[in-house]
Amino acid sequence: MQHPTHNSLVARSLASVWHPCTQMKRHEAQPPVAIARAQGPWLYDTDGKRYLDAISSWWVNLFGHSHPHIQAALADQLTRLDHVMLAGFTHAPVVELSERLSVLTGLGHAFYGSDGAAATEIALKMSAHYWRNTGRPAKSRFVGLAGGYHGETVGALAVTDIAIFREAYAPLVRLADTVPSPDARGATAGENAADVARRAAAALEVWLAEHHATTAALIVEPLVQCAAGMALHDPEYLRLARALCSRYEVHLVVDEIAVGFGRTGTMFAHQQAGIRPDFICLSKGLTGGTLPLSAVLTTDVVYAAFYDDDVARGFLHSHSYTGNPLACRAALATLELFDQLDTLNANTALAQRIDAACAALSYHPRVRHSRRLGMIWAWDVDTPLPDFSRRYHQHAMARGLVLRPIGNTLYAMPPYVLDDEAIACLSSGALDALNATLQEES
Ligand SMILES: *Cc1c(COP(=O)(O)O)cnc(C)c1O
Repeated sequence: MQHPTHNSLVARSLASVWHPCTQMKRHEAQPPVAIARAQGPWLYDTDGKRYLDAISSWWVNLFGHSHPHIQAALADQLTRLDHVMLAGFTHAPVVELSERLSVLTGLGHAFYGSDGAAATEIALKMSAHYWRNTGRPAKSRFVGLAGGYHGETVGALAVTDIAIFREAYAPLVRLADTVPSPDARGATAGENAADVARRAAAALEVWLAEHHATTAALIVEPLVQCAAGMALHDPEYLRLARALCSRYEVHLVVDEIAVGFGRTGTMFAHQQAGIRPDFICLSKGLTGGTLPLSAVLTTDVVYAAFYDDDVARGFLHSHSYTGNPLACRAALATLELFDQLDTLNANTALAQRIDAACAALSYHPRVRHSRRLGMIWAWDVDTPLPDFSRRYHQHAMARGLVLRPIGNTLYAMPPYVLDDEAIACLSSGALDALNATLQEES
């Protein structure tokens, strides 16, 4: 029996809130869960039942919920400056964050938005406007990877290749072309991941040779196409794509919104390829999962093409909350935690413990392509169940575990703060939920 508060909150939510990417009718059978508080990797519902947040609340939460260091920074910032518009004004948190991000990425001139999709739009607009300012206005189109995901606003949907979105919203969007994904699972007999990467890069080269004159930028999710089902690729693809983009004078945008901030084992995923992109998009983990914030950083060359007496040659983009001081301060506190906790090294050891705990899942007879990169795990489940994802999610929730497969791909993207108890909850809950779901096949 659930507590009345819980039921009434859920009923009021269904009456007043339109939940994201949700068929609301589904909630008749499977109501949303009302969360009252969260601590570390655990969410607590209004009845006090706890759930392990094994997907970091849609990949944003890096150091667990309610982290005291981030909380203290936010409380301090609230007493100083809540918000001021960033046009004509500046403030310490945005300056310090921009300096830190510049050191970390090797790019600069940080431009801020609030969501990942806004970062995608900023990067695409900046790229096309760069070519316009440099006398090549025909370079105004984009290319992305098959299965790519870069957000869901109308501009970002142009480079998001997810079938259900394309079908519904294609008429609203100036769709970008896609080139083959270097997804390592596409390897044919005798091929390794680097071979797949070279094959995909060869297709990119053919495409660029034909379309470079009208193309502003290639946008990629480096190393992991997360929304496509944690599709991993070899860093060789990024090296080849970088070389091709330079040769054909097309910008390379790396969308690190999901994979940035240590998720793949390095601070940023593209660093594993040793390349320098023309633009980087950041969001999600940037504030440790506390406040919405996104940023785009670029090169001095791009910046210089906008620097002029003419207003129209400036970058024409703003949001009301651009560079919000609270969000910037949360981001600074998050970056401080990487140093204080030696996160990248600590995660190497943590990931090995999780690997060991999840061995039974990885070697499960119905699992294919068991894979991990950094703090991302994925297992493709061989099942004829058409609604595997929904059923699995239910069984996991019943075990106090938040996991939401993408299609038949079960994955975990936990916060970087799992202790032994949380690891056990993840590994045994994920395995039990799998077996319970497969039981329903008959
Ligand atoms: C989540 C995501 C986005 C969009 O970010 P929102 O904050 O949801 O708009 C863009 N790109 C990638 C790679 C993402 O994972």
